[in-house]
Amino acid sequence: MYITQKIADKTLLKVKSEIEQLGIQVGKIKPSVKLTSNKTTLGTCNKLNNSDFDFEIRITKYIANEQALKNTIAHEILHSVKGCFNHQKKWKAMAEKVNSKYGYNITRLGDISEANVKPKYIVVCKNCGLEYKYFKKGKVIKYLEANSKNIKCGKCRGELELKK
Ligand SMILES: [Zn+2]
Ligand SMILES: [Zn+2]
Repeated sequence: MYITQKIADKTLLKVKSEIEQLGIQVGKIKPSVKLTSNKTTLGTCNKLNNSDFDFEIRITKYIANEQALKNTIAHEILHSVKGCFNHQKKWKAMAEKVNSKYGYNITRLGDISEANVKPKYIVVCKNCGLEYKYFKKGKVIKYLEANSKNIKCGKCRGELELKK
């Protein structure tokens, strides 16, 4: 199932009103969400040069389910609050407030595993089993393909193995 325009716009309206009910003043957001085919980012909040609206929320149509959609939209709405365009103290405090009131799981980095996209490469740590997902052939994949031992697990410094 892909997210439709109708579902996205309806969710924006609903989540926005929930956030406003907490007394948080959100910016002027375009009521129509822009759906993208992005495979590495769940959503973004873009500043507009438009007299009617200050922000546009863009989300990937690959978002896997309604809960992930709500979390992503809430994350982006909070960027429209004054002083919250980055993930700093004020944004974090707002996210915690919304999470605790409504049981959301707004995280600083939306988790791309909540989208219906399959990574092109999976790298596994031989020591701790941690899995890394990659959507394109970057530096890490090139190193591993060349059998370089220079790249280690970010968590335990173990040896990494390329799965596919
Ligand atoms: Zn963000
Ligand atoms: Zn490891």
